[in-house]
Amino acid sequence: MSVTVRFAPSPTGRLHVGNVRTALINWLFARHEGGRFILRIDDTDTERSTEAYETAIKADLAWLGLVWDETFNQSAKFDAYAAAAEALKAKGLLYPCYETADELERKRKIALSRGRPPVYDRAALDLSEDERAAHEAEGRTPHWRFKLSGKRVEWDDLVRGGQGIETASVSDPILIRGDGSYLYTLPSVVDDIDAAITHVVRGEDHVTNSGAQIEIFEALGAKAPMMAHTPLLVGADGEGLSKRLGSLSISQLAEDGVEPMAITSLLARIGTSDPVEVGDSLDQLAEAFSFDKIGRASARFDEGELMQLNAEIVHAKPFETVRETLEALDPRAAREDFWLTVRANCERVRDAVRYVEMAFGEITPVVDDADRDFIAGAGAHLPEGELDAGSWGAWTGALKADTGRKGKSLFMPLRLALTGAPRGPEMSALLPLIGREKTLERLKAASG
Ligand code: GLU
Repeated sequence: MSVTVRFAPSPTGRLHVGNVRTALINWLFARHEGGRFILRIDDTDTERSTEAYETAIKADLAWLGLVWDETFNQSAKFDAYAAAAEALKAKGLLYPCYETADELERKRKIALSRGRPPVYDRAALDLSEDERAAHEAEGRTPHWRFKLSGKRVEWDDLVRGGQGIETASVSDPILIRGDGSYLYTLPSVVDDIDAAITHVVRGEDHVTNSGAQIEIFEALGAKAPMMAHTPLLVGADGEGLSKRLGSLSISQLAEDGVEPMAITSLLARIGTSDPVEVGDSLDQLAEAFSFDKIGRASARFDEGELMQLNAEIVHAKPFETVRETLEALDPRAAREDFWLTVRANCERVRDAVRYVEMAFGEITPVVDDADRDFIAGAGAHLPEGELDAGSWGAWTGALKADTGRKGKSLFMPLRLALTGAPRGPEMSALLPLIGREKTLERLKAASG
């Protein structure tokens, strides 16, 4: 069987870490199986959906590397949904209801006060033709509910194992609102049938929907796809995703200098039995993908971990991949020797510019009184000629022999005098960038 999956965002907001994980899992599974990944834009809610969000969602997915084989909009398919609704009505499985929101709320409260579950009582099924006509004459337009079988719906979930929903204990779902608009339930099933979706992969907040949707698949004469419901993301503390994290958009992360592979590596691995580490590529993550590795416990999204992965990626980035970014930030930073010197100290590519002044510009040397004489005399031992990768070793070797200083008391005063900071890139690599003239200048400024 060839696999076809879909990711179905509503274009009513930006992609965030929670829904992008669903996209990623679908994509990885499709790639692993040599199958197809469809991007379905769930824009039946024409009031809240915007083209701008749709464009942004597509840009974010492309930036992450989650390319789709096909995309379509639900807003182009209203005819198909209407036809499906008619087919269900003809079977007596979609019935008109006239209760107002207030009436439904009253019914709910009464059921609860009597200790009964607040399940819709199906009163509308008992309406006579005359009663319906009377409601319509009053100007009420019906909303339409799907008649659940009242049986237990079972499926073997690829993540959760054997699942069962007692449809007798849930309300018949409303498929069409009073204004004629569709809730997500029916269009999703119609599209899953049309696109021959083999696996519906989504968050576990959809488990209950699956009970009703499996019955709708069958009512429309189709076999329900396989289902996989993944645990939701939680924050590092194990609590639900904070509001901030939950709405942390992919574009925000990109603007903050987070690398796409850091996001995809983390999201592919948290909540699985694989260690959280940087993947070489999306294809490598796809190769390792298996639903069997996804646990039932919620997946912890830790921003600290994200930045660790980011740093690891940045530390290995060849100059060619960052040249343009550096050029745009500060043309002085767009040099290979500079990048190779500073990248190990960068959590994000842009951090490199912090070291531009240190290497090529002006700094304020720092010196302890106790080290002033040492610094004043240090220049005399600087190796002759142009400074290179061996100069720092030769210089500090000579200073050690001359002053008896070693370890931190040898290196730290030099670093402070030459860079103005107690930490930074390797001095052996930095020294040739600073160059002979500036080195001597800074030593002089520090000892003066
Ligand atoms: N648009 C729906 C959502 O974002 C899709 C759910 C599904 O994958 O079936 O919740």
